[in-house]
Amino acid sequence: MKTIGLIGGMSWESSAIYYDLINKEVKQILGGFNSAKCILNSVNFAEIEFLQRQGDWNKLNQKMIEAAQQLENAGADLLILGTNTMHLCSEEIIKNTSIPFLHIATATGKNIKSKKLDQVALLGTKFTMEKDFYKKILQEDFGIKVIIPNETDRNRIHRIIYDELVLGEIREESKLVMKQIIKDLQHKGVQGTILGCTELPLLITENDVDIPVFNTTEIHAKSAVEMALKEVIIDS
Ligand code: GLU
Repeated sequence: MKTIGLIGGMSWESSAIYYDLINKEVKQILGGFNSAKCILNSVNFAEIEFLQRQGDWNKLNQKMIEAAQQLENAGADLLILGTNTMHLCSEEIIKNTSIPFLHIATATGKNIKSKKLDQVALLGTKFTMEKDFYKKILQEDFGIKVIIPNETDRNRIHRIIYDELVLGEIREESKLVMKQIIKDLQHKGVQGTILGCTELPLLITENDVDIPVFNTTEIHAKSAVEMALKEVIIDS
């Protein structure tokens, strides 16, 4: 079994879920006393959130490279970054490490394609919804059309993530807001919705909506285990 290196803490609420899912998946596949070989490098989210607000992506790149290199030096065989948003730094991480990096959008794109969908909504932070880094992979590598909510709804989702979910607050009124946003997107023709923020599954599950939901935390964690249990790791 390969050792998974998880860059976490963004937020720790979702890193705890990653750790749980990774171990459950290994147990499910191998049974018995088996558990995951995993190293968690958990950063202080206050520093990350501050730099995001400043728009200082140079410093954020440096922090992510440092966290990734620490994992590589500690013996990780593959890397995952437990946040959709911070994949804005993925190119720099890949350039500055020599172990495979499993991109969350690649894992998600594969999953969407396996369900034969080609038009989905993307919900996440404003960085993830509005910038190109995430949509580009889905569109160019998988031919998936990505629809994002209107500006008012993007602001609502961003606020719910940063003011509530990353702080571990799950509010019923925010769940209703999210459900309505997804309903509106359904009217625009989306066949499914990506929960493109690793805390969103704390608020919304497939039971809350009528269309398939792509839980990026779960997809990413399970894909990492699949990679860790492969005899030979192929860079993706
Ligand atoms: N975990 C979140 C995500 O998946 C947001 C927190 C962050 O900015 O990393 O995008």
